[in-house]
Amino acid sequence: MASNSELSRRVRAGVGAVSVGMLVVLSTLVWQLVDSSLSRRKLVLEGNQASARIAGALVAAQLRNHLRAVEGIARRPDFEQLVAARDWTSVQFYLEAILAVHPQLGSAAVADADGKVWARYPVDPSIIGQDFSSRDYFRGAIISDGGYVSEVYEPEGTVKGSVVAFSVAVRDGSGKFLGVVQATLSVETFRLLGTETEVPNGGSIQIFDRAGHSVRQPVNEPLRSHLSNSLVKKALAGFSGVEESRMPGLDGIRLVAYVQVPEVGWAVMVEQSKSEALRPIAALRGRLAGAGALVLLVAIITTGIVIRLIRKLDNERTSSAAVLASALDAVVSIDHEGRITEFNPAAERMFGYRTKEVIGKTVAETIIPTGLPNLHGEGLNKGSLAETTARRSDGREFPVEVSVSKVDLPGTESLLGVIRDIGERKKAEEELNERESYKSALLASIAESVVTTDPDGHITSINPAMETLGGWAEAEVVGRLYADVYSIYDHSGRPVPLEKRVLSRAIKTRQRVASNGFDLMLITRDGRRVPIAITASPIIGNDGGMLGGVDIVRDVSADREVDQMKSALVSTVSHELRTPLTMIQGFSELLLTRKFDAKQSAEALQQINASSERLGRLIDDLLSVSRIESGKLAPRKEELNLSELIGEIAAQYVGVRTVRADIPRGLPSVTADRDMLVQILTNLVSNAVKYSPEAAPVEVTAAPNNGNIEISVTDRGFGITDQEMNNLFEKFYRVDRPEVQKVGGTGLGLFISRSLVEMQGGQIWVTSSAGKGSTFSFSLPVASHTAKEKVG
Ligand code: ADP
Repeated sequence: MASNSELSRRVRAGVGAVSVGMLVVLSTLVWQLVDSSLSRRKLVLEGNQASARIAGALVAAQLRNHLRAVEGIARRPDFEQLVAARDWTSVQFYLEAILAVHPQLGSAAVADADGKVWARYPVDPSIIGQDFSSRDYFRGAIISDGGYVSEVYEPEGTVKGSVVAFSVAVRDGSGKFLGVVQATLSVETFRLLGTETEVPNGGSIQIFDRAGHSVRQPVNEPLRSHLSNSLVKKALAGFSGVEESRMPGLDGIRLVAYVQVPEVGWAVMVEQSKSEALRPIAALRGRLAGAGALVLLVAIITTGIVIRLIRKLDNERTSSAAVLASALDAVVSIDHEGRITEFNPAAERMFGYRTKEVIGKTVAETIIPTGLPNLHGEGLNKGSLAETTARRSDGREFPVEVSVSKVDLPGTESLLGVIRDIGERKKAEEELNERESYKSALLASIAESVVTTDPDGHITSINPAMETLGGWAEAEVVGRLYADVYSIYDHSGRPVPLEKRVLSRAIKTRQRVASNGFDLMLITRDGRRVPIAITASPIIGNDGGMLGGVDIVRDVSADREVDQMKSALVSTVSHELRTPLTMIQGFSELLLTRKFDAKQSAEALQQINASSERLGRLIDDLLSVSRIESGKLAPRKEELNLSELIGEIAAQYVGVRTVRADIPRGLPSVTADRDMLVQILTNLVSNAVKYSPEAAPVEVTAAPNNGNIEISVTDRGFGITDQEMNNLFEKFYRVDRPEVQKVGGTGLGLFISRSLVEMQGGQIWVTSSAGKGSTFSFSLPVASHTAKEKVG
């Protein structure tokens, strides 16, 4: 039976050996797993660091995007001009536009070169005129070319909570500093970037500005600097790493991954409680320490636990994916070969692809035909921002803004592209441009002169009509006081002070005010006095704020001339009517009351007859003028023999005056309206008779010249000075000399003659020397069939 017991001993020994072997194998396995799980600790930390880098790149992309928005406005030449001109009304219009296009921004403002804020949107009168030159954003903008991201601060005015400002210096073409345009972003916005719960095991993402202010602290807490924290200091100094440390405001020892945000020098940290993060590993160790007699069982159980733990640890790896998933913008990461490695949910929505469809493909063959912008040299560290066209899975193309940063993930170097659909923004920008050019086209096309000012009376713009009227170019007057540039005098010749001007009244009363009558005179650059009428209106913003005023200035010299002409007409006509009427009344009364003999009666009747003829002529002249001016008069042309016609007119003066007609034989006939020609000749001959001494003869000549016949009426009368000649053919013009005024007349004859001559294709002119006599000449075209044979 010894063999039995031997057998049983061997079996037991075998089982023991196998057990020991199994135990050894299992133990080795377990320890290997434990060991590998310890290296998993490294993975947790690396995962956190990857998260920190991605979060940093996202923060940089977000800041870059807002800075670009402000820069886009600051660099517009038209915006520069407005700031140079201190046209704060229009500047504010731009600020409103920035906020419309970038709704995340909370406010926008422009300070002049002295740091005084003059334009702000939303409108906040408490800020206007205040000095912000000591502000971080103001000084930062001056020293940084590409714009400046300010420290976090608590702004004055109506805004609640902390903000960060994006500021860019405005400079003119020559580089002269004009001011700073600035826009603010509530730090609340950064809360949207991954919330605490998205870092596993009670972790969080922390962001600090250059001064160590926590960007993600709750709104109602006062701003405090955390520069005393060594990790914050390290990250801000440009270091990155993972460390165990205490964190401001958080309990216990934390595992902290920290990086510096590219470009702006902020710090981003991803932190977790150390005990929470490593608890799975700690638990594992504890259980293994308790392994005793039931090693096998324990080992098996432990193996299960370890496997579960490993799975859990793998989940922790995904914390960087969690940061990506929570980003509002589309985020795509690509490896060094240009293949997509990450594609977040926002990217799926934007491009219409599922993540698994694009992973491993290049950006160029999927979402952006031109590929991500290349990062070379400096760009590698600074990141880049570019606008390009993206394509959806259905082929539809749309404009995007791509912000690319380099991110070092463990073991590999990737590019992270943050992509934003800017279709809406582009549309808004185009609308803005259209509105702007529409506005200036509108102003330019207004025939009336327009001046706009700010509430204090500084000129903010003038239109081309005002440039012509006043003589100053817009660039010369913008920014100056309206009253300093344009002097305006009232009817009594006294200058109108600023506060009495209609524009000041309009701004004060918030109502439209018009100057009345022609009682204002504008002094132009060259010293001319132009009669003007002004209508002034206040410019009131949508929110009721006073933005300035607009003056519509109308040059009323023409109106004034018409006015003067009307009075001249009334006085001439009434005088010309009165004279013959008095004669008619006087002589008819004599005839009625006195006993006249036949001769006396004949004389009286002759006077009555001459006066009524004179009345008739006046009425005819007035009718002619009105027909000429209404354009109703058209010549009825026929072929006319001039010598006959001139002979008839000369014959009327037989016994009154010597009127000689000297017409060469064989003079070609003319094509003209007979009645008109008679009226012209009658006018000229009767003037020659009227305005020369009784004994002096009048001569009428005609001669062909260059396809025309020229007819001249020459007298040896008073003559006309050069100055008088200028207005001779104008309506109602009569030379202002006693010898002329003594002779009756309306000043219509020459106007009518000129109109009738020109209507028939001819010209009229005069040569004269004062005191010696005048020659009035006009031309008429030769009748076509006679032209060839007889005119040389
Ligand atoms: P009226 O003779 O009725 O005043 P006209 O239009 O015919 O009006 O002439 C305008 C003015 O031109 C006259 O008032 C006169 O001063 C000047 N004038 C016209 N003809 C002569 C002339 N032959 N010699 C000098 N002055 C003339």
